[in-house]
Amino acid sequence: MCDSVAGSIPQVAVSLWRTSPHCPDWKGIACGPRAQAFKLGSVESAVKTPKLDRLQAIGYYRIMNKKEAKQITGGLSKPSKMPGPAHNLPAVACKTGAKLVNVPGSVCAGCYALKGRYRFSNVQQALQRRLAALEDPRWVEAMTTLISGQDWFRWHDSGDIQSLKHLENIFEVCKRTSKTRHWMPTREAQFLKQLDPATIPTNLIIRMSSHMIDSGPVKFWPWTSTVTSGSSRTCPAPDQGNQCGDCRACWDRSTANVCYGKH
Ligand code: SF4
Repeated sequence: MCDSVAGSIPQVAVSLWRTSPHCPDWKGIACGPRAQAFKLGSVESAVKTPKLDRLQAIGYYRIMNKKEAKQITGGLSKPSKMPGPAHNLPAVACKTGAKLVNVPGSVCAGCYALKGRYRFSNVQQALQRRLAALEDPRWVEAMTTLISGQDWFRWHDSGDIQSLKHLENIFEVCKRTSKTRHWMPTREAQFLKQLDPATIPTNLIIRMSSHMIDSGPVKFWPWTSTVTSGSSRTCPAPDQGNQCGDCRACWDRSTANVCYGKH
């Protein structure tokens, strides 16, 4: 840090700045033009950080508020059935699902995410925005900001994993929201087969969905889901107003398979 700059900043503030886990190169930032804007009024204000102007928030503390996080990611969805929010992507972008939708007897053949309100143009625009947002380098931080404080979270009430990079970013969000229990159903075996289940964050469960109605669970993955047209359904939602209620089987690693009724 330039001596002239360091001399104008209270020592406590300098210490906070240096120890910030978000500051990749405090020396460079300190000598740049933004350093001149770092003017805390007193030691007390540095400790309590009562008000940060925009420059300080972005450049020095990197505090992202929920409004900004929503703008970056396109926001979360709120499925009425679930005990927490979710994140969704356009079903037309599903790698495997886009093929299965044309296969009679597959679980995607009557995909709910291609019907009803999902077809409204405003909903489609929102889904496309969320898809484009996956490329934003701030996506992990923004999703972390939105999910923090939630007890339960579901990934992809529509849509699916887009790439290994997408999956890595989801893992990072899960690690940063360690108090939240995450559940992600998927049909993308191609990505799961490249993973060791032991490397998945412990607060996340990924359930591999079988492709065909009335087929059994896949063998290569420890947590699965199936769909039945018969009476072997284990999901109680249809018996309780199409709500999860107290059931958390989908998030429970001790429940190897969840069987849903055919819609
Ligand atoms: S099995 Fe339980 S947690 Fe999963 S969708 Fe059905 S009611 Fe919800």
